[in-house]
Amino acid sequence: MSMSKLARGWADLPRDLLESVLARLPVPDLVRFPAVCTAWQSVHAAAAARLRQATPSSPWLMLPFNPTARAGGVAKLSVARFLSLAEGRVYVIRQPAPAARDRLCVGSSADGWLVTADARSELSLLNPITGAQLRLPPAATLPFVDARRGADGRVESYGLRSCFADGGGCGEEALVPTETLGPDRLRYEVYEKAIVVSAPRRVPPCSCWVGYAVLLICQPLGRLAVARAGDAEWALLDDADAPARCWVDAVRASFSGADGSRRDHQPVYTVDAAGRVDAWDTDAATTPSRAVAPPCGCSARSCAMSAACRKYLVELSPGRLLQVHRLRETAHARYAWEPRPEHMEYTTTGVELFEWTAATGLWARADGRVLGGRALYLGKSASLCVPVDVDDAGWCPGVRGGCVYFTDDGPWSHDRCHEVTPDVGVLDLDDGSYRPPRGAARDLLWKWPPPVWVFPSLAG
Ligand SMILES: [Zn+2]
Repeated sequence: MSMSKLARGWADLPRDLLESVLARLPVPDLVRFPAVCTAWQSVHAAAAARLRQATPSSPWLMLPFNPTARAGGVAKLSVARFLSLAEGRVYVIRQPAPAARDRLCVGSSADGWLVTADARSELSLLNPITGAQLRLPPAATLPFVDARRGADGRVESYGLRSCFADGGGCGEEALVPTETLGPDRLRYEVYEKAIVVSAPRRVPPCSCWVGYAVLLICQPLGRLAVARAGDAEWALLDDADAPARCWVDAVRASFSGADGSRRDHQPVYTVDAAGRVDAWDTDAATTPSRAVAPPCGCSARSCAMSAACRKYLVELSPGRLLQVHRLRETAHARYAWEPRPEHMEYTTTGVELFEWTAATGLWARADGRVLGGRALYLGKSASLCVPVDVDDAGWCPGVRGGCVYFTDDGPWSHDRCHEVTPDVGVLDLDDGSYRPPRGAARDLLWKWPPPVWVFPSLAG
């Protein structure tokens, strides 16, 4: 190449070279790439479809806010901070309203979507990288929730009916008096976990979002509610007249039909408090679940109680499930501040792993080798088994296979306290060590909103 060609500048770099650079950029730089010049914008647009399909390799931790920091105006309220595990640095990204610091995240998908609940307990799907956002059906449409509205139509309180308790339906009399909750308390009391069964995608020419489905595990009885694209209401997936199974976690199954085709809404596996697993078809309106795996208990004395043992379910590969029991102890004794009993905080002390295969139909104890070099991301908002994307030298800084990356999964503080350290850490299954993620210690002095794993994606 002659000197004169070199001197022509960034806009004239060969297209294949730009594409090669693009393929190697971390997500934040990808977002900025098209802003450089029209030539780069053109290359970016052409590569966009391929980029959207790229699997996110290195998750971010969305950090809690410092409640003691002086507010920096509206601008500060509208941003969120993300720690990149691979780079050990923090990105600050502007977020759409309502303010990120007022939202609780109850779901995080491998496609880059979060399910957030705002201060009125309304749920949205949010891509925190691109700012894309869509509202899910109103909380008041959950089958056991009523909204009481003021003259201006705004929700003043929610009524929570727990009359499904004995499995007899509501009948003539409510078995438990309706509980009245403030608009923001519903999200703490009811939203256990949201699972993005299928991610939204835009269809031209109207750019409307289609194809998505979100499964919501609802307390107090661990019921399953589902909302699909176009739904105006949440619908119960499990039978309201049957005894509650107390589902504690769910994971979408990898699925392809006999002809290799994919459906809009993939099947979902759910695990109950006893460790039993069922499979659901979220496409069907009222299809009963199919029993998949028998109960599974660990060595914890109170394995069925979430306070002592928190259960997560991931799919290792089609026909192979992994159940992770996260053993915990109460942590409040270590702090001067004494939480009320219902706000007890926990710290992780270890895990026990159980593998189920379709061939045996049974759970068998497993160790870290069962991950095959992948990493687990587990917490209140996520249950994901993710390949650790290594570079040519077989090295991915900051992210290691054979490790469990935990975020907090205690009963969230209603008081947005900052005196209890969130139970966030990396558990190395090889040596049992449990440490905060690299670069995160300073940011984990606060607890609200609870830190969340985010899998950055430009999709949507
Ligand atoms: Zn257990």
